[in-house]
Amino acid sequence: MSSRRTIDLRAIQASTATATAAPHRNLEAEVTRHLAVIRGAWPRLHNPPHANATTRHPPASRPPMRTDALSLIAEISRDLAFWVQALIQDDTDGDPRGLSLDDAMGCARYLAGRVGFIAEWTYGNRLATEMHDHARAARGIAWPRPPSILLGECTNRVSVDGTVVPCGTQVRAHMETPGRVTCRGCGKSDTIDGWMLAIVADQRPVTLPQLVPLLHKRLGIVVSARTLQRMYRAGQLCAPIGGTRDAPTFDRRDVYAVVISHTAREKGA
Ligand SMILES: [Zn+2]
Repeated sequence: MSSRRTIDLRAIQASTATATAAPHRNLEAEVTRHLAVIRGAWPRLHNPPHANATTRHPPASRPPMRTDALSLIAEISRDLAFWVQALIQDDTDGDPRGLSLDDAMGCARYLAGRVGFIAEWTYGNRLATEMHDHARAARGIAWPRPPSILLGECTNRVSVDGTVVPCGTQVRAHMETPGRVTCRGCGKSDTIDGWMLAIVADQRPVTLPQLVPLLHKRLGIVVSARTLQRMYRAGQLCAPIGGTRDAPTFDRRDVYAVVISHTAREKGA
């Protein structure tokens, strides 16, 4: 499955010449942390959970092994074996007896036990960078973030160097906690409805075609007027509050709320 990686440390050394000079990098702690994440995620990579925990798969329709997880397992196995091989050429104090290069987690444990040497090693930075990338990818598959919806930019006013300005941070609603949405910029917390009220200050009723750019601009949701009309005819939208039969107008917040929950359901599917 995993093609052996050939060792060309001179090429690595040349490519990391600048990275090695990076100051204040605590390699020992960094490598320890990345390896711990990889080891913790390892069992879950072999049986990855779905992003949306509410999605149910009856045993018969269980999806096949995910290819992203499979190729990550192969990549991590290959690179861990590579680094152990490279390390034991230089690290004469290490004792790799009994270690199999085919045992990925054995290799991870071995590297974790030699972080003191790795931190001082010429190739330590390169190893840390690779393990960082692997740890991040493994975390993304093992503990996927639940779907979130962009509500818009935070309107809360904050003081920056004595000047009061809108916070402007993009506020996202995470589907597992719809009742409490917190701005990561200023820390303001509110419900989705509360945020919508603050973000959508203009309350004039709008037609469905007028909603298309608003949905895109305000919520980052791309939906065509035709789709909105189809949803309206199917009774999926709220009732119009005015306009004519051919061009009904809506309270935009009502439509936002409907489209947000619709999009969340589609994302979670
Ligand atoms: Zn904010």
